[in-house]
Amino acid sequence: MYPILELKSGREKSVINRHPWLFSGAVKTFPKAQNGDIIAVCDNKAKVLGYGFYSPNSQIVCRFFHFGVEEDIRSKEFWLSKFKRAYSLRKDLVITQNTNAFRLVHAEGDFLPGIVCDIYKDTAVLQILVKGTEKLVEIYVECLKDLGINYVYAKTKTSSHEIENIVQTGWLTANGETMIEILENGIKFIVDIEKGQKTGFFIDQRENRQLLRDLSKGKKVLNTFSYTGGFSAYAIKGGASLVHSVDISKDAIRLCEENIALNSPTTIHGSCVADCFDYLKTTEEMYDIIVLDPPAFAKNAKSVPNACRGYKELNMMGIKKVKSGGLIMTYSCSQNIDKVLFQKIVFGAAADVGRNVKILKHLEQPMDHPVNIFHPEGEYLKGLLLLVE
Ligand code: SAH
Repeated sequence: MYPILELKSGREKSVINRHPWLFSGAVKTFPKAQNGDIIAVCDNKAKVLGYGFYSPNSQIVCRFFHFGVEEDIRSKEFWLSKFKRAYSLRKDLVITQNTNAFRLVHAEGDFLPGIVCDIYKDTAVLQILVKGTEKLVEIYVECLKDLGINYVYAKTKTSSHEIENIVQTGWLTANGETMIEILENGIKFIVDIEKGQKTGFFIDQRENRQLLRDLSKGKKVLNTFSYTGGFSAYAIKGGASLVHSVDISKDAIRLCEENIALNSPTTIHGSCVADCFDYLKTTEEMYDIIVLDPPAFAKNAKSVPNACRGYKELNMMGIKKVKSGGLIMTYSCSQNIDKVLFQKIVFGAAADVGRNVKILKHLEQPMDHPVNIFHPEGEYLKGLLLLVE
């Protein structure tokens, strides 16, 4: 038996539709439970609709990991079957001899709310997002061991520390390496899982970087918000004539230089620690291809209007600095800005600059970042490949 949360009458529809988040407004009676406990959610006739993690301090009071009748949800087998399903998808679609970094668990997208797990060669980096998953972390480490992953490092967002009081951080197994050399589509990168941003690397741009490689032959490429040089290394591999990487973080640029050299020392790469807005404003260069991949400008619904202005300004600058017939890869990873809104922002930027712009392709997150169809919020990365005349 689990503590019971009773829904208000008429509020069971989203649960029946398997949306994995339950908002506090739908609750009639809160359970007698602590942050992170597993609770049963019932309709007003005491019928159990599903089980989830309780988060009394969040607007999302419950994150469902199971709908319908109870299974043995505390057993390792229950969780292992979820991990195995997640792994088999990656094994079939993502992992190759040339790619050993991938997202194994994409939270709600893998019916595992509250955890993100990225694999870098032999090491898993876990982001624990809610207390409920922290309480089960030993089971998760066991599941990862069963999949052959023996090193597990916990790395948690500051917001989760604050709201959810997550305390786990650092190695959950024997210590592995914190600087890990991975292969992505045959290109080597060093990932700093301890001091790097997010889990250490932006795995979600893998397919888009591959597209850039295919487009780069003989081109002058600017990679703004370059982080550790993901797009830059691919452009060089694709035969670019010149590649510039710009990022505000000194550490990111240092590792970017290392990553470029690791693949093959080259004189066509230049890097710069700078604010990309300033760089784009002041540079006199015109490029054949510009990548615009900023951090999420809209961290929540309130910041959407400001974020829209930021994206518009950035895209205007990019459109101005690309040669006639040149390309722009522009992205937003803000969950609160959807595809349609993003395209409107880019439309506004193109209209204000006054150049003809064509959409060649819509860009998105790769297959190891699946979107649970009942949870459209999981679709966060969107982009456009633009031709500017
Ligand atoms: N495209 C990268 C990921 C970008 S993440 C990849 O494929 O790996 C966003 C990056 O933007 C971070 O490295 C962060 O340091 C940088 N950043 C944030 N604000 C910035 C600014 N105003 N100017 C330049 N870089 C910035």
